[in-house]
Amino acid sequence: MKILIIDDSKIERVIIRSYLQHLNHEVFDAENGETGIALFAQCNPDIVLLGVVMAGINGYQVATQIRQEYADWVPIIFLSGKTAPEDVMIGIEAGGDDYLPKPIQKQILIAKMTAMERIAAMRTQLLKTKSDLELANEELGRLATLDGLTGIANRRHLDNTAAKELARAQRHQQPLTFIISDIDFFKKYNDHYGHIQGDECLKAVATALDNAIRRPSELVARYGGEEFCMLLPNTDTEGAKLIAEKLVNAVRSLELHHAGLHKHAIVTMSFGVVSLIPDRNLTVKGLMLQADEKLYQAKESGRDKWVL
Ligand code: GH3
Ligand code: MG
Ligand code: MG
Repeated sequence: MKILIIDDSKIERVIIRSYLQHLNHEVFDAENGETGIALFAQCNPDIVLLGVVMAGINGYQVATQIRQEYADWVPIIFLSGKTAPEDVMIGIEAGGDDYLPKPIQKQILIAKMTAMERIAAMRTQLLKTKSDLELANEELGRLATLDGLTGIANRRHLDNTAAKELARAQRHQQPLTFIISDIDFFKKYNDHYGHIQGDECLKAVATALDNAIRRPSELVARYGGEEFCMLLPNTDTEGAKLIAEKLVNAVRSLELHHAGLHKHAIVTMSFGVVSLIPDRNLTVKGLMLQADEKLYQAKESGRDKWVL
């Protein structure tokens, strides 16, 4: 353990240090409360042995200050000739964990250190578990927003973001563009190539769409099956047309063969685009319905295109 001794008696410090170093502990010492508190911050000890009566701030004040400044609990053991019940009470209330009477007896010190070492090991383990859990939690939070197959944002993330962005656009009366897209003749693609190859196609399409959308505030998400949505805050009709055209071309440029359709066919996609300054009454569902209607029109009028 790293052990910090704070005591104004040089003899006590030297004796305790020699006992502890025999047990292979790393020892730091300070001759008064102020230096002790500074050293505490530097050496990050596993345990503090703290004299009570000292010139300057006394041991109780040192303990109180350490407890106030550090959320992490480090055991503090008082060293004192004052061992009346009320002294022990004050020490514990100031944030101490135990009380060792002076002069320090080697065997008792060693016994207490053995007990404290067990507690220190548990504390280290606990801190590690806590930090592991925090990391795992962060990763879980991230994964909960992603689609398992394609790695882009999932439906849940789209729903949350769409609600926020719609509310923002309504509040500031700013334009918002929403696009819903669907792969053309994908059932035939699966029928011809099989579902495994179908999944590969979905991944390639997802990546192409995601790469075509650049701004950090913009979102590409898998809505479900072979349908993908794009949410573009602050994008007006003119911007929406440019992006829609870019998306149609991004999928075409993949040049994924679709022999299930005819010999020279490639995978294409249709896009339903809505761009508007939303009024107060518009809901996310309403926005999606409008886009879906446009998608239907794109499908009906030949596919491989966008309709706004
Ligand atoms: P349209 O041009 O009108 O959109 O025709 P389509 O065949 O693409 O439309 P339809 O809705 O009939 O077919 C969608 C197909 O998408 C059906 C299903 O087999 C396939 N599909 C949905 N989710 C997945 C998936 O996760 N993996 C694979 N491989 N296929 C999927
Ligand atoms: Mg579909
Ligand atoms: Mg389809």
